[in-house]
Amino acid sequence: MEVYSAKDEYLGTGHYQKGSIMVRIFSFEKVVPGVSFWKSKIQKAFDYRKSIGLTDDANTNVYRLVYGEGDGLPGLIIDYYNGTAVIQAHSIGMYRERNHLVEALKEIYGTKLKAVYDKSKESLGASGTKVPPESEGESELKNSYLFASDHEKQVLENGLRFHIDWEEGQKTGFFIDQRENRKLVAQYAAGRKVLDCFCYAGGFSAYALKAGATQVHSVDSSKTAIKLTDTNIGLNFGKDARQTSFDADAFDFLGSHSSEYDMMIVDPPAFAKHRDARHQAVMGYRRLNALAIKGIKPGGIILTFSCSQVVDKYLFHGAITAAAIETGRSIRIVKYLSQPADHPISIYHPEGEYLKGMVLYVE
Ligand code: SAH
Repeated sequence: MEVYSAKDEYLGTGHYQKGSIMVRIFSFEKVVPGVSFWKSKIQKAFDYRKSIGLTDDANTNVYRLVYGEGDGLPGLIIDYYNGTAVIQAHSIGMYRERNHLVEALKEIYGTKLKAVYDKSKESLGASGTKVPPESEGESELKNSYLFASDHEKQVLENGLRFHIDWEEGQKTGFFIDQRENRKLVAQYAAGRKVLDCFCYAGGFSAYALKAGATQVHSVDSSKTAIKLTDTNIGLNFGKDARQTSFDADAFDFLGSHSSEYDMMIVDPPAFAKHRDARHQAVMGYRRLNALAIKGIKPGGIILTFSCSQVVDKYLFHGAITAAAIETGRSIRIVKYLSQPADHPISIYHPEGEYLKGMVLYVE
Protein backbone atom coordinates (compact mmCIF):
# COMPACT_ATOMS: atom_id res chain seq x y z
CA MET A 1 0.00 0.00 0.00
CA GLU A 2 0.99 3.62 -0.45
CA VAL A 3 1.29 5.87 2.59
CA TYR A 4 0.36 9.57 2.46
CA SER A 5 0.78 12.38 4.97
CA ALA A 6 -2.17 14.33 6.35
CA LYS A 7 -1.38 16.88 3.61
CA ASP A 8 -1.78 14.14 1.03
CA GLU A 9 1.92 14.00 0.18
CA TYR A 10 3.24 10.60 -0.89
CA LEU A 11 5.57 9.13 1.76
CA GLY A 12 6.33 5.58 0.77
CA THR A 13 5.10 2.16 -0.30
CA GLY A 14 5.02 -0.86 1.96
CA HIS A 15 3.23 -3.89 3.27
CA TYR A 16 0.32 -3.29 5.61
CA GLN A 17 -0.39 -5.63 8.48
CA LYS A 18 -2.39 -5.10 11.62
CA GLY A 19 -0.08 -5.12 14.64
CA SER A 20 2.59 -3.08 16.40
CA ILE A 21 4.16 -2.20 13.03
CA MET A 22 1.31 -1.28 10.72
CA VAL A 23 3.28 -0.65 7.53
CA ARG A 24 6.70 -1.95 6.59
CA ILE A 25 8.02 0.48 4.00
CA PHE A 26 10.16 -1.00 1.24
CA SER A 27 10.22 1.94 -1.15
CA PHE A 28 10.25 5.71 -0.83
CA GLU A 29 9.41 6.04 -4.51
CA LYS A 30 6.16 4.96 -6.11
CA VAL A 31 6.49 1.38 -7.32
CA VAL A 32 4.38 -1.58 -8.22
CA PRO A 33 6.53 -4.37 -6.80
CA GLY A 34 7.21 -7.29 -9.09
CA VAL A 35 10.15 -9.47 -10.09
CA SER A 36 12.29 -6.61 -11.40
CA PHE A 37 11.71 -4.47 -8.31
CA TRP A 38 12.67 -7.28 -5.90
CA LYS A 39 15.56 -8.25 -8.11
CA SER A 40 17.07 -4.78 -7.91
CA LYS A 41 16.73 -4.72 -4.11
CA ILE A 42 18.19 -8.21 -3.65
CA GLN A 43 20.95 -7.48 -6.16
CA LYS A 44 21.98 -4.50 -4.00
CA ALA A 45 22.08 -6.76 -0.95
CA PHE A 46 24.25 -9.22 -2.90
CA ASP A 47 26.57 -6.52 -4.27
CA TYR A 48 27.08 -5.05 -0.80
CA ARG A 49 28.16 -8.44 0.54
CA LYS A 50 30.34 -9.19 -2.47
CA SER A 51 32.11 -5.85 -2.20
CA ILE A 52 33.22 -6.60 1.36
CA GLY A 53 34.15 -10.22 0.70
CA LEU A 54 31.18 -11.94 2.31
CA THR A 55 29.76 -13.94 -0.58
CA ASP A 56 31.06 -17.43 -1.12
CA ASP A 57 34.68 -18.33 -1.66
CA ALA A 58 36.79 -21.47 -1.43
CA ASN A 59 36.37 -21.70 2.36
CA THR A 60 32.87 -20.38 3.02
CA ASN A 61 29.65 -20.85 1.08
CA VAL A 62 27.08 -19.83 3.66
CA TYR A 63 25.95 -16.28 4.39
CA ARG A 64 22.87 -14.16 5.04
CA LEU A 65 21.85 -12.56 1.76
CA VAL A 66 19.01 -10.38 3.07
CA TYR A 67 18.62 -9.09 6.59
CA GLY A 68 15.28 -7.24 6.72
CA GLU A 69 15.46 -3.50 7.36
CA GLY A 70 19.27 -3.67 7.23
CA ASP A 71 18.88 -4.29 3.50
CA GLY A 72 15.84 -2.10 2.93
CA LEU A 73 13.67 -5.21 2.79
CA PRO A 74 11.60 -5.20 5.98
CA GLY A 75 9.93 -8.49 6.78
CA LEU A 76 12.35 -10.57 4.70
CA ILE A 77 15.24 -12.85 5.60
CA ILE A 78 17.12 -14.86 2.98
CA ASP A 79 19.99 -17.15 3.91
CA TYR A 80 22.24 -18.74 1.31
CA TYR A 81 23.47 -22.27 1.96
CA ASN A 82 25.78 -23.56 -0.75
CA GLY A 83 23.27 -23.17 -3.59
CA THR A 84 20.04 -23.30 -1.58
CA ALA A 85 18.31 -20.06 -0.59
CA VAL A 86 16.10 -20.27 2.49
CA ILE A 87 13.45 -17.56 2.61
CA GLN A 88 11.75 -16.48 5.81
CA ALA A 89 8.92 -13.95 5.56
CA HIS A 90 8.03 -11.99 8.67
CA SER A 91 5.02 -10.26 7.16
CA ILE A 92 2.10 -11.55 5.13
CA GLY A 93 2.80 -9.02 2.39
CA MET A 94 6.31 -10.35 1.93
CA TYR A 95 5.05 -13.93 2.08
CA ARG A 96 2.72 -13.19 -0.80
CA GLU A 97 5.69 -12.01 -2.86
CA ARG A 98 7.50 -15.32 -2.45
CA ASN A 99 7.16 -16.46 -6.04
CA HIS A 100 8.44 -13.11 -7.30
CA LEU A 101 11.34 -13.42 -4.89
CA VAL A 102 12.19 -16.85 -6.28
CA GLU A 103 12.25 -15.48 -9.84
CA ALA A 104 14.45 -12.61 -8.69
CA LEU A 105 16.87 -15.02 -7.01
CA LYS A 106 17.04 -17.17 -10.14
CA GLU A 107 17.94 -14.14 -12.22
CA ILE A 108 20.64 -13.06 -9.79
CA TYR A 109 22.31 -16.43 -9.23
CA GLY A 110 21.59 -18.18 -12.55
CA THR A 111 22.49 -21.87 -12.48
CA LYS A 112 24.28 -21.47 -9.16
CA LEU A 113 20.90 -21.46 -7.50
CA LYS A 114 19.92 -25.07 -6.92
CA ALA A 115 16.85 -24.73 -4.71
CA VAL A 116 14.71 -22.28 -2.76
CA TYR A 117 13.03 -23.32 0.47
CA ASP A 118 10.33 -21.29 2.20
CA LYS A 119 10.56 -21.46 6.00
CA SER A 120 7.92 -18.88 6.89
CA LYS A 121 5.67 -21.09 8.94
CA GLU A 122 7.55 -20.37 12.16
CA SER A 123 8.15 -16.67 11.49
CA LEU A 124 4.55 -15.92 10.51
CA GLY A 125 2.97 -18.38 12.89
CA ALA A 126 5.05 -17.18 15.82
CA SER A 127 3.32 -13.82 15.99
CA GLY A 128 -0.04 -15.55 15.91
CA THR A 129 -0.57 -14.36 12.35
CA LYS A 130 -3.37 -16.00 10.42
CA VAL A 131 -2.81 -15.84 6.73
CA PRO A 132 -6.12 -15.00 5.12
CA PRO A 133 -7.28 -17.56 2.59
CA GLU A 134 -6.70 -16.71 -1.03
CA SER A 135 -7.12 -18.54 -4.25
CA GLU A 136 -3.58 -19.87 -3.87
CA GLY A 137 -4.66 -21.60 -0.69
CA GLU A 138 -2.55 -19.46 1.61
CA SER A 139 -4.59 -20.38 4.64
CA GLU A 140 -2.51 -23.50 5.01
CA LEU A 141 0.86 -22.18 5.93
CA LYS A 142 3.39 -24.91 5.21
CA ASN A 143 7.13 -24.83 4.77
CA SER A 144 8.06 -26.10 1.33
CA TYR A 145 10.40 -25.90 -1.62
CA LEU A 146 9.41 -23.08 -3.96
CA PHE A 147 12.01 -24.07 -6.52
CA ALA A 148 13.54 -27.51 -7.12
CA SER A 149 13.82 -29.71 -4.06
CA ASP A 150 16.08 -31.18 -1.48
CA HIS A 151 19.63 -30.30 -2.43
CA GLU A 152 23.09 -30.77 -0.93
CA LYS A 153 22.79 -29.89 2.74
CA GLN A 154 26.46 -29.56 3.50
CA VAL A 155 28.12 -26.16 3.69
CA LEU A 156 31.60 -24.84 4.32
CA GLU A 157 32.29 -22.16 6.87
CA ASN A 158 35.90 -21.05 7.21
CA GLY A 159 36.99 -24.43 5.92
CA LEU A 160 34.84 -26.43 8.36
CA ARG A 161 32.02 -28.61 7.09
CA PHE A 162 28.52 -28.40 8.52
CA HIS A 163 25.41 -30.35 7.76
CA ILE A 164 22.56 -27.83 7.81
CA ASP A 165 18.99 -28.97 8.21
CA TRP A 166 16.82 -26.05 7.10
CA GLU A 167 13.73 -28.26 7.03
CA GLU A 168 13.89 -29.55 10.60
CA GLY A 169 16.45 -27.25 12.19
CA GLN A 170 15.98 -24.08 14.23
CA LYS A 171 15.59 -20.68 12.51
CA THR A 172 16.65 -21.08 8.88
CA GLY A 173 18.89 -23.99 9.81
CA PHE A 174 22.12 -22.48 11.13
CA PHE A 175 23.21 -19.56 13.29
CA ILE A 176 25.14 -17.79 10.55
CA ASP A 177 25.37 -14.73 12.78
CA GLN A 178 28.05 -16.35 14.97
CA ARG A 179 30.50 -17.00 12.12
CA GLU A 180 33.05 -14.35 13.15
CA ASN A 181 32.74 -15.12 16.82
CA ARG A 182 33.23 -18.80 16.11
CA LYS A 183 36.38 -17.87 14.24
CA LEU A 184 37.58 -15.91 17.22
CA VAL A 185 37.34 -19.02 19.36
CA ALA A 186 40.25 -20.42 17.38
CA GLN A 187 42.45 -17.66 18.77
CA TYR A 188 41.97 -18.81 22.37
CA ALA A 189 41.15 -22.51 22.27
CA ALA A 190 44.54 -24.19 21.80
CA GLY A 191 45.47 -26.26 24.83
CA ARG A 192 42.24 -25.44 26.68
CA LYS A 193 39.41 -27.51 28.08
CA VAL A 194 36.35 -26.01 26.46
CA LEU A 195 32.69 -26.06 27.42
CA ASP A 196 30.32 -25.12 24.57
CA CYS A 197 27.00 -24.32 26.26
CA PHE A 198 23.91 -24.15 24.03
CA CYS A 199 25.93 -25.75 21.23
CA TYR A 200 23.06 -26.31 18.69
CA ALA A 201 24.88 -27.67 15.58
CA GLY A 202 28.27 -27.73 17.29
CA GLY A 203 29.69 -24.68 15.53
CA PHE A 204 31.83 -23.33 18.37
CA SER A 205 32.86 -26.88 19.32
CA ALA A 206 34.18 -27.62 15.83
CA TYR A 207 36.25 -24.41 15.72
CA ALA A 208 37.69 -25.16 19.18
CA LEU A 209 38.69 -28.68 18.15
CA LYS A 210 40.30 -27.44 14.96
CA ALA A 211 42.27 -24.88 16.94
CA GLY A 212 43.74 -27.56 19.21
CA ALA A 213 41.55 -27.63 22.32
CA THR A 214 42.50 -30.60 24.53
CA GLN A 215 38.87 -31.31 25.43
CA VAL A 216 35.51 -30.05 24.17
CA HIS A 217 32.20 -30.69 25.90
CA SER A 218 29.12 -29.64 23.91
CA VAL A 219 25.87 -29.12 25.82
CA ASP A 220 22.34 -28.60 24.49
CA SER A 221 18.92 -29.52 25.86
CA SER A 222 17.61 -30.47 22.41
CA LYS A 223 18.23 -34.03 21.25
CA THR A 224 18.05 -32.89 17.63
CA ALA A 225 20.77 -30.33 18.32
CA ILE A 226 22.99 -32.96 19.93
CA LYS A 227 22.52 -35.21 16.91
CA LEU A 228 23.48 -32.34 14.62
CA THR A 229 26.54 -31.62 16.74
CA ASP A 230 27.63 -35.25 16.54
CA THR A 231 27.11 -35.27 12.78
CA ASN A 232 29.16 -32.13 12.34
CA ILE A 233 32.00 -33.17 14.59
CA GLY A 234 32.09 -36.49 12.70
CA LEU A 235 32.14 -34.70 9.34
CA ASN A 236 35.25 -32.75 10.28
CA PHE A 237 37.15 -34.92 12.72
CA GLY A 238 35.77 -38.45 12.45
CA LYS A 239 35.78 -40.06 15.88
CA ASP A 240 37.56 -37.56 18.08
CA ALA A 241 38.15 -38.67 21.66
CA ARG A 242 38.56 -35.05 22.75
CA GLN A 243 34.87 -34.24 22.20
CA THR A 244 31.74 -35.37 24.06
CA SER A 245 28.13 -34.17 23.65
CA PHE A 246 25.70 -33.85 26.55
CA ASP A 247 21.94 -33.68 26.17
CA ALA A 248 21.41 -31.53 29.27
CA ASP A 249 20.12 -28.25 30.63
CA ALA A 250 22.97 -25.76 30.49
CA PHE A 251 22.11 -24.16 33.85
CA ASP A 252 22.21 -27.57 35.57
CA PHE A 253 25.35 -28.61 33.74
CA LEU A 254 27.17 -25.41 34.67
CA GLY A 255 26.00 -25.76 38.26
CA SER A 256 27.70 -29.11 38.65
CA HIS A 257 30.60 -29.15 36.16
CA SER A 258 31.82 -25.61 35.61
CA SER A 259 35.09 -26.03 37.53
CA GLU A 260 36.45 -28.47 34.90
CA TYR A 261 37.01 -25.90 32.18
CA ASP A 262 39.29 -23.03 31.32
CA MET A 263 37.25 -21.83 28.37
CA MET A 264 33.50 -21.50 28.00
CA ILE A 265 31.11 -20.39 25.30
CA VAL A 266 27.75 -19.27 26.63
CA ASP A 267 25.37 -18.65 23.73
CA PRO A 268 21.79 -19.08 24.94
CA PRO A 269 18.62 -18.57 22.89
CA ALA A 270 16.89 -15.18 23.21
CA PHE A 271 15.66 -14.96 26.81
CA ALA A 272 13.31 -12.11 25.90
CA LYS A 273 11.39 -11.69 22.66
CA HIS A 274 9.34 -8.74 23.95
CA ARG A 275 10.01 -5.75 26.14
CA ASP A 276 7.80 -7.05 28.94
CA ALA A 277 10.08 -10.07 29.33
CA ARG A 278 13.17 -7.90 29.70
CA HIS A 279 13.52 -8.08 33.46
CA GLN A 280 13.28 -11.87 33.50
CA ALA A 281 15.83 -12.02 30.70
CA VAL A 282 18.33 -9.82 32.49
CA MET A 283 17.99 -11.97 35.61
CA GLY A 284 18.51 -15.04 33.41
CA TYR A 285 21.73 -13.66 31.90
CA ARG A 286 22.97 -12.74 35.35
CA ARG A 287 22.27 -16.17 36.81
CA LEU A 288 23.72 -18.05 33.85
CA ASN A 289 26.89 -15.99 33.72
CA ALA A 290 27.40 -16.08 37.47
CA LEU A 291 27.42 -19.88 37.21
CA ALA A 292 30.03 -19.72 34.44
CA ILE A 293 32.23 -17.11 36.12
CA LYS A 294 32.08 -18.78 39.53
CA GLY A 295 33.30 -22.11 38.20
CA ILE A 296 35.83 -21.39 35.49
CA LYS A 297 39.49 -22.16 36.25
CA PRO A 298 41.82 -19.22 36.98
CA GLY A 299 43.06 -17.73 33.71
CA GLY A 300 39.94 -18.96 31.96
CA ILE A 301 38.20 -17.29 29.05
CA ILE A 302 34.45 -16.90 28.64
CA LEU A 303 32.70 -15.85 25.44
CA THR A 304 29.23 -14.83 26.50
CA PHE A 305 26.36 -13.71 24.28
CA SER A 306 22.85 -12.36 24.15
CA CYS A 307 20.71 -12.42 21.03
CA SER A 308 17.70 -10.75 22.70
CA GLN A 309 17.04 -7.61 20.69
CA VAL A 310 15.24 -5.96 23.63
CA VAL A 311 18.24 -6.41 25.92
CA ASP A 312 20.67 -3.89 24.45
CA LYS A 313 24.44 -3.99 24.89
CA TYR A 314 24.35 -1.69 27.91
CA LEU A 315 21.78 -3.78 29.71
CA PHE A 316 23.69 -6.95 28.84
CA HIS A 317 26.90 -5.37 30.10
CA GLY A 318 25.08 -4.55 33.33
CA ALA A 319 23.88 -8.12 33.72
CA ILE A 320 27.41 -9.46 33.23
CA THR A 321 28.81 -6.90 35.67
CA ALA A 322 26.22 -7.95 38.25
CA ALA A 323 27.18 -11.61 37.69
CA ALA A 324 30.86 -10.74 38.13
CA ILE A 325 30.20 -8.80 41.36
CA GLU A 326 28.23 -11.74 42.69
CA THR A 327 31.27 -14.00 42.29
CA GLY A 328 33.83 -11.47 43.46
CA ARG A 329 36.36 -12.64 40.87
CA SER A 330 38.76 -10.35 39.07
CA ILE A 331 37.79 -10.01 35.40
CA ARG A 332 39.22 -8.22 32.39
CA ILE A 333 37.10 -7.44 29.35
CA VAL A 334 39.12 -8.78 26.43
CA LYS A 335 36.73 -7.75 23.69
CA TYR A 336 33.19 -6.73 22.79
CA LEU A 337 31.47 -8.79 20.12
CA SER A 338 28.56 -8.19 17.77
CA GLN A 339 26.79 -9.47 14.69
CA PRO A 340 28.64 -9.83 11.37
CA ALA A 341 28.30 -7.51 8.38
CA ASP A 342 25.94 -9.86 6.52
CA HIS A 343 23.46 -8.91 9.29
CA PRO A 344 23.84 -5.18 8.61
CA ILE A 345 22.29 -2.50 10.76
CA SER A 346 20.78 0.41 8.86
CA ILE A 347 21.87 3.63 10.50
CA TYR A 348 18.20 4.63 10.46
CA HIS A 349 17.06 1.40 12.06
CA PRO A 350 19.17 0.82 15.17
CA GLU A 351 16.66 -1.85 16.25
CA GLY A 352 18.41 -4.15 13.77
CA GLU A 353 21.18 -4.64 16.32
CA TYR A 354 20.51 -7.73 18.39
CA LEU A 355 23.60 -9.89 18.86
CA LYS A 356 26.12 -8.75 21.42
CA GLY A 357 28.81 -10.56 23.31
CA MET A 358 31.81 -10.13 25.55
CA VAL A 359 35.06 -12.02 25.90
CA LEU A 360 36.05 -12.17 29.56
CA TYR A 361 39.35 -13.18 31.11
CA VAL A 362 38.73 -14.48 34.60
CA GLU A 363 41.68 -14.46 37.00
N1 SAH B 1 25.89 -21.63 19.65
C1 SAH B 1 25.04 -22.11 18.61
C2 SAH B 1 23.67 -21.45 18.60
C3 SAH B 1 22.90 -21.57 19.88
S1 SAH B 1 21.18 -21.40 19.71
C4 SAH B 1 25.74 -21.92 17.26
O1 SAH B 1 26.81 -21.32 17.17
O2 SAH B 1 25.20 -22.42 16.26
C5 SAH B 1 20.59 -21.80 21.28
C6 SAH B 1 20.56 -23.28 21.61
O3 SAH B 1 20.21 -23.39 22.98
C7 SAH B 1 19.51 -24.13 20.88
O4 SAH B 1 20.16 -25.18 20.23
C8 SAH B 1 18.59 -24.68 21.97
O5 SAH B 1 18.20 -26.02 21.75
C9 SAH B 1 19.47 -24.60 23.19
N2 SAH B 1 18.82 -24.47 24.50
C10 SAH B 1 17.72 -23.76 24.83
N3 SAH B 1 17.50 -23.81 26.17
C11 SAH B 1 18.49 -24.57 26.70
C12 SAH B 1 18.84 -24.98 28.01
N4 SAH B 1 18.13 -24.60 29.08
N5 SAH B 1 19.94 -25.73 28.19
C13 SAH B 1 20.68 -26.13 27.12
N6 SAH B 1 20.42 -25.77 25.86
C14 SAH B 1 19.33 -25.00 25.64
